[in-house]
Amino acid sequence: MEVLAEPVKKELVRILSPENISFEEEDILCYSYDATGRRALPECVLFPHTAEEVSLILKMANAEGIPVVPRGAGTGFTGGSLPLRGGIVMSTERMTTMEMDQENMTAMCGAGVVTWDLSQRAESLGLFYPPDPTSLKVSTIGGNIAECAGGPRGLKYGVTKDYVLALEVVLPTGEILKTAPGKTLKGVVGYNLTGLLTGSEGTLGVVTRAYLRLLPIPEEKRLLVATFDTLERAGQGVIEIVRGGVIPSALELIDGVCLKAVDEYAKVGLSGVGAAIIVEVDGTGGLTERDIERARQVCQKMGALNIEVAEEEKRMKELWGLRRAISPALKRVGSLKLNEDVVVPRTNIVELIRGLEDIGRGRDVTIASFGHAGDGNIHVNIMVDRDDPEEVERGEAAVKDLFELTLELGGTISGEHGVGVTKSDYIGMELHKDTLELMMRIKRAFDPNNILNPGKIFKEEMERV
Ligand SMILES: Cc1cc2nc3c(=O)[nH]c(=O)nc-3n(C[C@H](O)[C@H](O)[C@H](O)COP(=O)(O)OP(=O)(O)OC[C@H]3O[C@@H](n4cnc5c(N)ncnc54)[C@H](O)[C@@H]3O)c2cc1C
Repeated sequence: MEVLAEPVKKELVRILSPENISFEEEDILCYSYDATGRRALPECVLFPHTAEEVSLILKMANAEGIPVVPRGAGTGFTGGSLPLRGGIVMSTERMTTMEMDQENMTAMCGAGVVTWDLSQRAESLGLFYPPDPTSLKVSTIGGNIAECAGGPRGLKYGVTKDYVLALEVVLPTGEILKTAPGKTLKGVVGYNLTGLLTGSEGTLGVVTRAYLRLLPIPEEKRLLVATFDTLERAGQGVIEIVRGGVIPSALELIDGVCLKAVDEYAKVGLSGVGAAIIVEVDGTGGLTERDIERARQVCQKMGALNIEVAEEEKRMKELWGLRRAISPALKRVGSLKLNEDVVVPRTNIVELIRGLEDIGRGRDVTIASFGHAGDGNIHVNIMVDRDDPEEVERGEAAVKDLFELTLELGGTISGEHGVGVTKSDYIGMELHKDTLELMMRIKRAFDPNNILNPGKIFKEEMERV
């Protein structure tokens, strides 16, 4: 259904000028999908440069009841940037200002800055931006903030929210706000709007600028890779490493299905291995040597089949390359990946792993798991053939089993990817109805006409309550 009348189109062109707006079919198609592989067509794509332009667009959209969907790089895994109800896709890709304050160790970024560009710029000044979603070479700071993205470094360094000092944001009704001063590390005046907006999945406001905290760059790094005969033993190794007093900068767990998929093209002798863990430690003053040795001893005690410790940058990069290859390599295992990112308390990882094996057997589906086990966050991929409806149905039943198990173990159904559309049917499993109702009231206070990213997080019938 078309929602953009001719006078509205003319007004959009007037606000942005023709080179920053597209009604062309090829652009409409390019901005109609995200990493879920799902699609929904917008009627136009806008490329604003400033908060003032965003404000004028949102004021008009609010008055006319036109849906607007903010979009970074479209790498989201839950359908967050899909324009489910048509209307406008608002791309942030031309908002790429970046200013660094080396002395205060802060950065100011336009929402469309690619995370990798910020981390490289920080590194050139001896500074460090820790949040590291695996998509960081493509995804944007705005998208990371909207999803509160995490990554392998979460255990030691936290996730995106831990580095957001303030946001410049445009409300669906057009007001431009700055949530805090931006360069102070503390600030408790009024409600924590920065925290509320971070992780709000583009439903409460369009982030136009972010004020971010940086750290000094760690001087040393060491990496250890250990293989095990079973996933359970590797999972216990993860628990024991942290119990032994080491907080690694990354602590990743990889199951045998993922290792086999990677080995099929990399040929590094990982096929047939039950599981592996990657331990990265960083720091200064020789601490990394002590920590990696402690981790090595734990792995040995847990019966590791093989342990490699890497110190050279080149070898560390190669080993991380194998970890990064898992997602694409899994395409060989099943044409449709039901990709979930559950989190349990770290000490319940082994129970989660046992339960996953039961779910896979019970539903007769292949499950490939890997992820940031150090913080209890496991990416569980239920692999099915997209052309076999019966197998897809079994896969979806396995997803529900997985969520039930996760909640029984005191966990959450999403640690990184958010709710979007793919999980909106399930949030009632985790959140009490009073909590959901309060969240809907917050949404209505920010967006009384429900124009900003409608159909996300909350199920459609709830939007009408
Ligand atoms: C290979 C791969 C690996 C990944 N690895 C990780 C990982 O390790 N950790 C992790 O957390 N995620 C990961 N992701 C998921 C994804 O990259 C993150 O969710 C990322 O933060 C999305 O950023 P984006 O710029 O692509 O946003 P998009 O996908 O374009 O949008 C995501 C959501 O943010 C909203 N949004 C975007 N920009 C703004 C803005 N300026 N203001 C308000 N709302 C906005 C959109 O409306 C949408 O709801 C991965 C994805 C892929 C494909």
